[in-house]
Amino acid sequence: MAEFDLIEQYFNFHYDFSSNSADKKGQPSVVKGIGDDCAIFNIPDKFQLVTSTDTLVSDVHFFSNLQPELIAYKALAVNVSDLAAMGAKPLAFTLSITLPEVSERWLSDFSKGLKSASEKFQIPLVGGDTTQGPLTINITAYGTVKQSRLLRRDKAQVGDDIWVTGYLGEAAAALDLSEKALGGRDELTEAENNLWQSLATPKPPVKFATKLAKFAECGLDISDGLMADLGHILKQSQCGANLDVEFLPLSDSLVEVVGIEQARQFALNGGDDYQLCFTAKSQHRNKILNLGERYKVNTTRVGKVTEGDLIVQLEGEAFQPTRASWQHFNQ
Ligand code: ADP
Ligand code: MG
Repeated sequence: MAEFDLIEQYFNFHYDFSSNSADKKGQPSVVKGIGDDCAIFNIPDKFQLVTSTDTLVSDVHFFSNLQPELIAYKALAVNVSDLAAMGAKPLAFTLSITLPEVSERWLSDFSKGLKSASEKFQIPLVGGDTTQGPLTINITAYGTVKQSRLLRRDKAQVGDDIWVTGYLGEAAAALDLSEKALGGRDELTEAENNLWQSLATPKPPVKFATKLAKFAECGLDISDGLMADLGHILKQSQCGANLDVEFLPLSDSLVEVVGIEQARQFALNGGDDYQLCFTAKSQHRNKILNLGERYKVNTTRVGKVTEGDLIVQLEGEAFQPTRASWQHFNQ
């Protein structure tokens, strides 16, 4: 199959961008997607363009026998999560894909998963590159945000509350279920399947995030584990924190599968959550809870920003995390 036909069949979803600019005056929009040398965006003055890219290498970042729909979904979701982490609204994404061979079955399933993720997160595929080699997927996502609504890493202040969205630790726990899950989903219990879904199909709180900067200036997405990622905020903001283990949002499924002790460890240092961690002034507590309810996003206060170091405590007593977070080149 020729490269052009392959792109046309599997990656050109034929959005109608012409309707964009007419009914969304003053909003950022895509003018032209696939088919020219570049995609074209329209970014009105008061907006900033943000971009993030992630490369997924087969058998390093995903199991090569994972369903292609799920590979596609996650490749897009992790990039959309970075947009959410800035408070940005998804605008478009590009896909650079390296394929070992042209398997129409694989491509068709991958394309289906990508299209449905693109619809779910309301982000169109506007270009890319197609090459041959070991299976590798690179997605670059673009988003837009008004400057005053950016969520940055260097704005935390002593006394701020520390919040997280969703439930933590499920994806890390699900890694241990991979063999079972990929062998045939039937063997998983309902609770195990819930964990597996969190690993395979993370759901970054995108709409919630675009509204969050009214109440929070500082935020990021939790991809390497809460402690490691909160650490980035603290370092850039030159602060410390008290983190209260008893407040960590743990799902019933996680506690059922691994027990409370291990659940806490996964929530502190597991990776792949793709939820948000953010800091906000205490006067905004109710507004944040209401925003969460409006967008069906669980929001939990898990600690406070301090002057000192990052201290993890359980009901006031020092708590020892046991598991280091994931770092490439450092295992
Ligand atoms: P060029 O040679 O100018 O880089 P290509 O022939 O690689 O262009 O691609 C033709 C068009 O198809 C471009 O608009 C490009 O962005 C798009 N494209 C190529 N590969 C992909 C892909 N995997 N997914 C989406 N769009 C793609
Ligand atoms: Mg090219």
